[in-house]
Amino acid sequence: MNDQASSTVTLHKNLIGGRDVPASDGAVLDVLSPADGQLFARIPSGTAEDIDAAVKAARAAFEGAWSKLTATERGRLLIKLAAAVEADADHLAALESRDNGKPLRQSRADVTALARYFEYYGTAADKLHGEVIPYLNTHFIGVERVPHGVTGHIIPWNYPMQIFGRSVGAALAGGNATVVKPAEDASLTILRIGALAREVGFPDGALNIVTGLGRTAGAALTAHPGIDFISFTGSPETGTMVQTAAAKNHVGVTLELGGKSAQVVFDDADLERALPSLVNAIIQNGGQTCSAGSRLLIQRGIFKDVVDAVAERFRTLRAGHPEREPDLGPMVNQAQQRRVEKYLERAKNEGLTVAAAGGIASDAPSGGYYVAPTFFAPVAHESVLSQEEVFGPVLVATPFDDEAEAIRLANGTAYGLAAGVWTRDAMRSTRVGRAMRVGQVFVNCYGAGGGVELPFGGFGRSGHGREKGFEGLVEFTTTRTLVIAHG
Ligand code: NAD
Repeated sequence: MNDQASSTVTLHKNLIGGRDVPASDGAVLDVLSPADGQLFARIPSGTAEDIDAAVKAARAAFEGAWSKLTATERGRLLIKLAAAVEADADHLAALESRDNGKPLRQSRADVTALARYFEYYGTAADKLHGEVIPYLNTHFIGVERVPHGVTGHIIPWNYPMQIFGRSVGAALAGGNATVVKPAEDASLTILRIGALAREVGFPDGALNIVTGLGRTAGAALTAHPGIDFISFTGSPETGTMVQTAAAKNHVGVTLELGGKSAQVVFDDADLERALPSLVNAIIQNGGQTCSAGSRLLIQRGIFKDVVDAVAERFRTLRAGHPEREPDLGPMVNQAQQRRVEKYLERAKNEGLTVAAAGGIASDAPSGGYYVAPTFFAPVAHESVLSQEEVFGPVLVATPFDDEAEAIRLANGTAYGLAAGVWTRDAMRSTRVGRAMRVGQVFVNCYGAGGGVELPFGGFGRSGHGREKGFEGLVEFTTTRTLVIAHG
């Protein structure tokens, strides 16, 4: 944290070229706690001028101190940053829960994942290498892996630390200098990571952070001609704008967008094993997870039994204050709370059956953005609730008759991010798993995007490009082919 505006409201600054600076025009955004709606911090409302300064600082680092380091040295800095994050874990987790509203245990899990991303990409930095291509006997052909240059990173509010780790961690490991625009609703942990990066010795300008609104700071970053590659995680609508901006500058972009992921439960599934996972996959982070398992597809013969069992668990769920370890916290902001409530009203008006609803904890502060988790069953595959991403604790269940129908329904939305398959039949698990048009399939488990080592990304409206794993590191580099004639 930079300095104190009053005893309770902290004032934060951007990180540009190694310096803490306010917005060029001094403007700030209020940061409200989702738990009670109270103001507790202010962040700079970054301007196009701030973005320009950050891009210039990144370019200077890329052409200067940052690119003088070897891959091993870059990796060592990331490993040091991993240790600094772990040492700061309590503070980071508390800050995240206050800013974003997720239960403290989930913020802690995010911190652990963040440190692991830095460790993973730190140790991978000097293992990414090119190849030699056999061509003419008179020529030597080397293909080098090189950084894009200056990369821009737009981050959403739901998992800021994890998404920072997977995208900025990989970009830095690959030798890029970075400019990051966190979400206006969850910037505080990102600014803290920036401070830690400076402490462990990252050269000035290798990592720049500009907070602010999407339509100003975000749009300025994606349109900036000094950006060589963009990593965007967020909604499909914003993704379209980001890709359009990237196209105008002829630069590459990875889009990690939304999802409407199905969990397919066959009648031979181990239900005892499946049930906690079916519920957790939609309740984690209050359903504000791109890879949330928001649709249950259940084979008809066990439909009623599974719906009853899930409903029983749903009735016990409580949304509450993040520091009191509830099943789920509040929604991130009032707009998100209203968005979810609108989906619930619409579903009820359309006559969808509520199989079960949880509640809001009696001690949840009155000004917070709480929503009761709700489970609808049966729900037609064509209904809005089966097709659109709610991004809240709302689950639907739809019956299917056979494997072919299960595959058709699972693949039957515009999205394609993740899927779960529950069956004891080994051949079917492989067959159905391979038929899913998604970036990650889980059989007899559901990782909800988990696993630092596992490539992650979408098909269709879920986006394109891959982050995480070694593939994520490759995405943040490109090739240079060197042809040497030697006679
Ligand atoms: P959002 O698109 O509203 O915002 C995401 C980021 O984009 C924020 O930092 C925002 O300030 C910025 N932004 C907004 N307008 C912009 C513009 N015109 N130009 C540039 N940047 C702009 O999304 P959100 O509501 O913060 O996040 C929720 C969405 O993100 C959901 O759809 C969710 O599924 C998706 N998501 C996807 C993944 C994934 O890995 N696939 C992970 C997390 C979230």
